[in-house]
Amino acid sequence: RTVYVNGDYLPEDEAKVSIFDRAFLMGDGVYEVTSVLGGKLIDFDGHRARLERSLDELDMPHPSVMDDLLDIHRELVRANEITDGLVYLQITRGAPGDRDFAFPDRDTPPTVVLFTQNKPGLADSPAAKQGLKIVSIEDLRWGRRDIKTTQLLYPSMGKMMAKKAGCDDAWMVQDGHVTEGTSNNAYIVKGNKIITRALSNDILHGITRAAVLRFAKEAQMQVEERNFTIDEAKEADEAFVTSASAFVMPVVEIDGASIGTGSPGALVPRLREIYLEESLKVAI
Ligand code: PLP
Repeated sequence: RTVYVNGDYLPEDEAKVSIFDRAFLMGDGVYEVTSVLGGKLIDFDGHRARLERSLDELDMPHPSVMDDLLDIHRELVRANEITDGLVYLQITRGAPGDRDFAFPDRDTPPTVVLFTQNKPGLADSPAAKQGLKIVSIEDLRWGRRDIKTTQLLYPSMGKMMAKKAGCDDAWMVQDGHVTEGTSNNAYIVKGNKIITRALSNDILHGITRAAVLRFAKEAQMQVEERNFTIDEAKEADEAFVTSASAFVMPVVEIDGASIGTGSPGALVPRLREIYLEESLKVAI
């Protein structure tokens, strides 16, 4: 695989970053994952805009490479012959040469890394037909989940808790209400109405979420942004998650209780189709 590190395109085993890198020592980095379908980037502008916001919220300088990100994404997709897959992008506060809690000088060069993941058939994964089984866990993450940082230990533990429970993923719960999935936003459906937690510091402002809610409204579905509980989710007609890599993915079981018939219903598969179709139209 060809990867990008700080201005260079290199074979992955030649790419190196410092042991003093702030992301390695402190989780002081931000990232984005953009999906590729048919060789084109889905929602690139949204991911770029959120990346800028993440940098601003952490008072990280914008690296000069910000203007070249689209070109770098495209070059990696080309070099690695990606038809369907993902582009991972990470920017860290750099490697000041020693370990220190205080932020380094603003002129410390950031570390910028991008690589691709090849995922043939990404948009027709069997999980989209079967639906996911979810277990609920307490949300024990920090309070700025709106910033897309590389501090992913708790979500990673959540995936393992899900695995141990025989499930595909976990929904996290805070003060009795679902925040989001370990790496996706969470929704329930009642009749023609889609219910999902409102945006705040409690959840990541999903790029897929924004697009899906827009398409849902255009398709005359109702959208209600409010908190919901696991008990309410268990009684829902349908449920789903969204993310850049999963698109719209049905949920068919929560804490052992079947959602609806226990198979993907009517609305969620339709919403998935709409999302894929509309997103592909404007992919770049
Ligand atoms: N919530 C969390 C915690 C995530 O990690 C992600 C994606 O990685 C999402 C939601 C979905 O965001 P997006 O649709 O921008 O991929």
